[in-house]
Amino acid sequence: MKIVRVFAHRVDLPLVEGSYKWSGGKSVSIFDSTIVGVETDQGIVGYGEVCPLGPFYLPAYAEGVRAGLRELAPHCIGSDPRELGKLNHRMDAALKGHPYVKSGIDMACWDILGKVSGLPVCQLLGGRFGEQVRLYRAISQTPPDEMARNVANYKSEGYTRFQLKVGGDPDLDIQRIRQVREVLAPSDRLVADANTGWTQHEAMRVVRAVRDLDVYIEQPCLTYEECLAVRRNTDHPFVLDENVDGLDMLLRAKSDLAMDVVNLKISKLGGLTKTKQIRDLCVSMGIAMTLEDSWGGDITTAAIAHLAHSTPEEFRFTSTDFNSYVTVSNATGAPQRERGFMKASDAPGLGIEPRFELLGPRAVDIH
Ligand code: MG
Repeated sequence: MKIVRVFAHRVDLPLVEGSYKWSGGKSVSIFDSTIVGVETDQGIVGYGEVCPLGPFYLPAYAEGVRAGLRELAPHCIGSDPRELGKLNHRMDAALKGHPYVKSGIDMACWDILGKVSGLPVCQLLGGRFGEQVRLYRAISQTPPDEMARNVANYKSEGYTRFQLKVGGDPDLDIQRIRQVREVLAPSDRLVADANTGWTQHEAMRVVRAVRDLDVYIEQPCLTYEECLAVRRNTDHPFVLDENVDGLDMLLRAKSDLAMDVVNLKISKLGGLTKTKQIRDLCVSMGIAMTLEDSWGGDITTAAIAHLAHSTPEEFRFTSTDFNSYVTVSNATGAPQRERGFMKASDAPGLGIEPRFELLGPRAVDIH
């Protein structure tokens, strides 16, 4: 079986809440997502999705996905999409870095492998653990009262885990964490995610000011060294995200005991193949994970569900259902949240079919 065509469509994903705001005043109101299709000589087509969190979160941007595909896709034509290791080796030889560009092709080839074998991707990724996947809700950065109200509303919809977007003014952030913790039950989990937004001394003030509360601290500062300094001076459970962009950083952080939980995003790591490698290593090393992506719609959500559902439950800290944050459904068959949980599809592959009527013309078409 050979890849004969790689194509991509752009699709805009407006937010249900109107906008999404996080550290340093960063904000997005419409996400620009790319649906990637990989077609084989046997007529089977697999799909993936890549949606950076704007151009100012990770070193990734939406038009970069499409430009990168134009560069990379010609090197994939002729490869067997079922040979994921070989395909990734080829992509890494053809294009240095740019993991998010590779992610859509890799995801689409897992979809093909599932369709060819008649198995859902979660079974191919290791097997289905448990009945369902627990979700967290990301709470956009707004004044403390509003964030507490939003958390209470999402809690009434069944969520039990919440990720507060902090990393703003540290005094306001202390209020945000305090007011939100007040509306939660003791068993609810709260994460304060600064998304690199605090300087080291600000982070030290915040962790000391909320020391009496049950809250996880995620990626407080920009550099790994700053995060490590904060980690070594706090007893809150600690999550690393932006700094862990591959195996080297994961091993370094493990060796430094720099985290209790790590956030794995499929496109940050270069696709499902590389995320599976890191996920499996985390399981072996006893590190729990948030399994997700930077953003996306139905196809990304389906991929997250398969990745999370194939991870032993005790190592699944949280995942998220991005398709419920946006007003546009870009595919049928994607998981739908039920009382704070979702499930991976039983259908072969990712179990989705793009809604082509909503997608723009092909922005990339290499064959
Ligand atoms: Mg994070």
